Amino acid sequence: MEKLFTNKSILVTGGAGFIGSHLVDRLVQTKAKVTVIDNLITGHRENLKAAEKSGLVNFIQADISLPETISALGTAHYDLIFHLASPASPRGYMDNPIETYTVNSFGTHYLTRYALSTGARFLFASTSEVYGDPLEHPQREEYWGNVNPIGIRACYDVSKRFGEMVLTTTARRFDFDFRLVRIFNTYGPRMDPKDGRVIPNLVLQAISNQPLTVHGDGTQTRSFCYVSDLVEYLLRTMVSLETRGIPINIGHPEEYTMLALAKKVIDLTDSTSEITFTDRPEDDPNRRQPDISRAKKLLGYEPQITLDIGLKKTIDFFKTIAPTMSKIRYK
Ligand code: UDP
Repeated sequence: MEKLFTNKSILVTGGAGFIGSHLVDRLVQTKAKVTVIDNLITGHRENLKAAEKSGLVNFIQADISLPETISALGTAHYDLIFHLASPASPRGYMDNPIETYTVNSFGTHYLTRYALSTGARFLFASTSEVYGDPLEHPQREEYWGNVNPIGIRACYDVSKRFGEMVLTTTARRFDFDFRLVRIFNTYGPRMDPKDGRVIPNLVLQAISNQPLTVHGDGTQTRSFCYVSDLVEYLLRTMVSLETRGIPINIGHPEEYTMLALAKKVIDLTDSTSEITFTDRPEDDPNRRQPDISRAKKLLGYEPQITLDIGLKKTIDFFKTIAPTMSKIRYK
């Protein structure tokens, strides 16, 4: 599969973010030529340090939700476009709600037109959040979701749903070669330590022997996929012909309560921390677990990294950056 990317010209929006930068690393390994567009509102140029040394990465700091950014691309031809740009953590999108809905709506619209006019294959990173607080469990791609259209998460989940609509509507009228993945909770090195997500929070709290903040009673669940597995899914989806035009759930199917996760983090870090129960955020989904049978059948792939192994790698990462961090605010 690697050879299918060699010498290809590839655009990655959001390439300086957590998942985006791991994708860029992997594309550079295949000797692809990668252009990254990122406005750095939640991404960090530092994430691309290693990839940029290859000489194969061209970085553009710009906002893809502005038409002038697309015009500046001119007639440049990309074989493949990965559209990952968007704040993705609840804190990231709630702090940047307008930037979030514009990149997923206007950004997706402009990039779709650009991909159509230049003949690029297009992959949109959608999210498990399109299922909202799901009433069906585990979530299959056929499920339409349970989303609050005026809630505090709407800037993210409604705009990702809008993005999905843009792709599918466009493909009904034009011969549009697109891929659509719904990414479930993902973790690993380079997660932003200040973005408020549960794994960075708990790991940083545990390694500094502070209380671990579990929201509510900790019975809510999530299923966590290590970032290298996620990137493998992205590559396979992009090159597969069978995944054209249909949503694919990508993630790890093992489900944990937040309380079990907190206990696991304490064990793996040998921490003396205790667990403290704090307020549950508004509209926080109760249960989330992907049904990955479609991905398994069409891509022949299942995640390889267990939560224990992935957490150990993530803990090592946070141990290396923790001493350089200023005081973190936990919510
Ligand atoms: N959470 C928690 N403690 C924290 C941060 C988050 O218990 O310090 C909970 C959060 O309320 C949610 C789950 O962990 O139920 C996952 O939250 P995260 O922000 O990582 O991502 P989400 O899946 O909600 O997008």
